[in-house]
Amino acid sequence: MNDARRPGTLSIWAGEERSRIEGATQVPVVHSVAHGYDDLDHWRDVSLGDAEGHVYARYTNPTVDAFEEKIRVLEGGEAASAFASGMAAIHTTLFALLAPGERVVSIKDTYGGTSRIFMNHLPKFGVDCVLCDTADHDQIEARIDEGLDLLYLESPTNPTCKVLDIERLAARAAAKGATVVVDNTFATPINQRPLTLGADLVIHSATKYLGGHADALGGALVGDAELVRTVTDFREINGAALYPEAAYMLLRGMKTLQIRIERQNASALKIARWLRDHPKVARVFYPGLEDDPGHEIAVRQSPGGFGGMLSFELHGDFEAVKRFAPALKLAHRAANLGAVETIVAPPRTGSHVELTAEERAALGIPEGLVRYSTGIEDVEDLILDLDAALAQVPDRFVATT
Ligand SMILES: *Cc1c(COP(=O)(O)O)cnc(C)c1O
Repeated sequence: MNDARRPGTLSIWAGEERSRIEGATQVPVVHSVAHGYDDLDHWRDVSLGDAEGHVYARYTNPTVDAFEEKIRVLEGGEAASAFASGMAAIHTTLFALLAPGERVVSIKDTYGGTSRIFMNHLPKFGVDCVLCDTADHDQIEARIDEGLDLLYLESPTNPTCKVLDIERLAARAAAKGATVVVDNTFATPINQRPLTLGADLVIHSATKYLGGHADALGGALVGDAELVRTVTDFREINGAALYPEAAYMLLRGMKTLQIRIERQNASALKIARWLRDHPKVARVFYPGLEDDPGHEIAVRQSPGGFGGMLSFELHGDFEAVKRFAPALKLAHRAANLGAVETIVAPPRTGSHVELTAEERAALGIPEGLVRYSTGIEDVEDLILDLDAALAQVPDRFVATT
């Protein structure tokens, strides 16, 4: 089950050995909604899961199968399931595994959609959701010790790249018999493999780094076979299936996963170090910096690298961001991340737009924060571009803050 080949090899070959048609070297996109059987006994066996095959595209599809197999092998799990989006994966997982009267412990800094499920939706069904201060391990452990059914983590977090000790918290939750779920979208299996750190399930927004080209929505769940089966049963009826065309685009993107992530890791580290010394920048959030609060944990739990996501605070608050961001030539200003192109998104206009300044402050998000998703451009050009855009931030902003 666990494939000993290395991630760069697996990114290319895993999941691709099956489903060849007439010698095609690439996985076919199977658009058929149904698969027909002349032999009714065979049809029945496939329907019951006693024989291999496909029946109806809301359940399984050959192209989607290949995507599931590739991410399953990369994360090193027993089973995988694909979804129409990252949120479809997260929603389906939480609603399939939780029941009224149960309790979730998570953090305040989860992805915005996830945090809305915890705050607005699960409570309607009698699920108690406890959201802890993100980097406060002692507080999270104290809430775990009170009892829980599911621990839900993300690391590094959005947008301030905080690092949680997955191994430490997973062990604590396992001692209470809880299921441990980790959203690994930011790190990818190239940098960090939560299943090796004690997680039962790993979730991805494949829309981001896995696909890598900002042109297909998708989600994935990988881990314990029985848990994945339970979630997949719910997906088969809630209809959150991944579209075959999107599965193909994600598969194609994933072939370059390792080389993209290696490049983004290296460029982000170089940029974080450069920004740290820039007079217009008040603070850089990146676990690869030696003095970052998450550095020590990240070195241990993310052997592949520190990731392509970083954020930094400009002197002069949102006024500075308004001068800086539009001046960048090598960045999309958009609510996205993890693509080959560099993307900037100030939380003030993107991920945390609906919050008040006070609420953002309570989450440790400064008004002058810029989230930077490092692309695969030449890093020297990215630094020149950052330098030119930072020159648009008036010097007096530095003096007044
Ligand atoms: C984008 C994102 C999601 C949601 O994924 P979609 O594919 O947009 O539904 C979940 N978690 C994280 C960390 C994300 O960045």
